[in-house]
Amino acid sequence: MAGLSAANKLFKSTNSKQLFELCVVEGGTRIGGRINSSEFCGDRIELGATWIHGIQGSPVYKIAQQSALLHSHQPWERMDGFFSHKHITVAEGGYELNPSFVRPISTLFKNLLKFIQGEPVDEDGLSSEILKRCWSNCGPGNLSVGSFLKEGLEAYWGFVKDQKPVDGVGNWSRKSLEEAVFAMRERAYRAYSAVDDLGTLDYNAESAYEIFPGEEITIAGGYSRVIDSLASVLPVGTIQLGRIVEKIEWQPGGCSQESRKGNGDGSMPVKLHFSDGSSLSADHVIVTVSLGVLKRGIRQDCNMFIPPLPSPKIQAISRLGYGLVDKVFLQLSSHYQETNDFEFPFLQMVFHPPDSELRDPRIPRWMRGGSSLYPIYCNSRVILSWFTGQEALEKSQDGSEDSGEGKQVKFDNVLRSRWGSDPLFLGSYSYVAVGSSGDDIDALAEPLPQNSSNLDSPRSQLQVLFAGEATHRTHYSTTHGAYLSGIREANRLLKHYNCDVV
Ligand SMILES: Cc1cc2nc3c(=O)[nH]c(=O)nc-3n(C[C@H](O)[C@H](O)[C@H](O)COP(=O)(O)OP(=O)(O)OC[C@H]3O[C@@H](n4cnc5c(N)ncnc54)[C@H](O)[C@@H]3O)c2cc1C
Repeated sequence: MAGLSAANKLFKSTNSKQLFELCVVEGGTRIGGRINSSEFCGDRIELGATWIHGIQGSPVYKIAQQSALLHSHQPWERMDGFFSHKHITVAEGGYELNPSFVRPISTLFKNLLKFIQGEPVDEDGLSSEILKRCWSNCGPGNLSVGSFLKEGLEAYWGFVKDQKPVDGVGNWSRKSLEEAVFAMRERAYRAYSAVDDLGTLDYNAESAYEIFPGEEITIAGGYSRVIDSLASVLPVGTIQLGRIVEKIEWQPGGCSQESRKGNGDGSMPVKLHFSDGSSLSADHVIVTVSLGVLKRGIRQDCNMFIPPLPSPKIQAISRLGYGLVDKVFLQLSSHYQETNDFEFPFLQMVFHPPDSELRDPRIPRWMRGGSSLYPIYCNSRVILSWFTGQEALEKSQDGSEDSGEGKQVKFDNVLRSRWGSDPLFLGSYSYVAVGSSGDDIDALAEPLPQNSSNLDSPRSQLQVLFAGEATHRTHYSTTHGAYLSGIREANRLLKHYNCDVV
C-alpha cells in the first residue's frame, strides 16, 4: 500500500514532465503485501487487512468508492456489518452466561479503554470512582495498557461487593468467571492491536492514536482491488515482482567522485542488491518493508543497510513494537448444518486461565488465543477466528492444522494466514511498545542521509526514504496509515524537485 501509493502519486504528479524514472520492486509474487483478498468456499475473504476503520476522511474508502468496490454479487466477509449476529458468551465447560452477568464486566472494560484512549467515558458514579482509583494507583512513568486494565478490575472488585455464587456454571466461582470474561475482552483487544501481552502496550501512545469517524466497513469487491486501482496507472513494467532486496547500499557523505566514475550508473548514490545477484542503482529509494523486516534487517547477521543505519534509527526500530495476529477460516461440515437448525452465533469464549487444572485438553491452543468465533456473515457456513501473538506464531511454525476436531463440530475445510513465518512480513502490524513513543515513529520516518543540506547535489540528498504503516505517527498499523505515509514520501521528493505538492 505504501509503495504503490507513493508510486501512484509520483507518476501522476510528474508524468507529463517525465521527471522520474519509476520502478517498484516487490519481493513476492503478487502486489498488495499485507492486503491479500482471497476466496474460501465461494465467499470473498481477507487474509490480511479486513476493515476500513472509519469511512469519514479515509483515503482508502475514497478509492474503494471511486473504483466501485462497495457492492458485489459474490458474498463477502462481514457484508452485513459486525454486529449482525446474536451474541452468546459461553464459559469453558459449555456454560452459556447470562448477558446480565457479562454486561457489567464488558462495560467496565469498555470504559477503561475509552479512558485510556482519551475518549469520553459513560458517566456513572462507579466508573469515575474506579478510574480515579486506577489513576492514583498506577501513577505516571512507563505505564502499560495491561497494567492499567489490571488495576481497573481490582478497583472494580473493591467497589462491587456482590459475592453471590452464579447459578449453572459448574466449578466456576463468581470471581474467576468475572476475571475470565475480562480476559476475553483483553484477548479481543490484543487481536485489535496485535500485541502478545497488553503489558507491553504503551499507555500514553493509545490516546495519540487516531481513528477516522464513521462506520467501519469491509470492501465488497475485495481489499486487493484498492491496490489494483493504485497500480493500474503505472506503465507496464514499472512493477517488478520476485525481486527480493537483500542489501541497500547508500552514501552518508553524498556521492563520492569515485562512485560517480566507478559504478557505471552516472552519479546515482543508492544501489539495491537483489537475492539473485542482480542490482539496481537509483537516486532515491523509498523503503516500505514492514517493521518486522526492518527489525531483522538491522540484525548483525543480516545487515540490510550498507553502511548500517544511524543509531537513532536503529534504536527506534528496536524499541517500537511489531505484533502478530492471524486469521483462521473454518468451513462447518454440511452434516453439521443439516443436523442443526440454529444459526451459528457470534460466540464469545471464556476460558480458564493458563495455570488452571480445569482446562479442557480438547480445546486447541490457538483457539484459547482468540476471543470469539463467528460466521463471516449471517448463515454462512464459514466460521472465523482471529488469534494473536505467541499462539499465532506457534501455529505458523508447526504448520499443523488442529483446528477443531472437537466432538461436536467438524470442519470440512480450513484456511489460515501465516503472517509471522513469511519472511516478507514477519508479523502483522506495529504498535507503540512500553519504552518507545511516537518520537520513535518520527525517527523511523526520517530520510537519510540526515542533515544532508550541506551535500553537493540534490541527488545526494534524500537517498533513502522510509514509508509504511509503522512510519505514521497517528495512523500506524492501518492501510490508510500506509497509504498516507507513501503520499508523504512522494510529496517529500516532489518538493525536493520543486514540483507542486497537492
Ligand atoms: C491479519 C491482518 C489484519 C489486518 N487488518 C487490518 C484492518 O482491518 N484494517 C487496516 O486498516 N489494516 C489492517 N491490517 C494492517 C494493514 O494490512 C497494514 O498496515 C498495511 O497493509 C501495511 O502496508 P505497508 O505498505 O506498510 O506494508 P506491506 O503491505 O507489508 O508492504 C511491504 C511490501 O514489501 C515487500 N517486501 C518485504 N521485504 C522485501 C524485500 N526484502 N525485498 C522486496 N520486497 C520486500 C512485501 O512483500 C510487501 O509487499 C491488517 C494486517 C494483518 C496482517
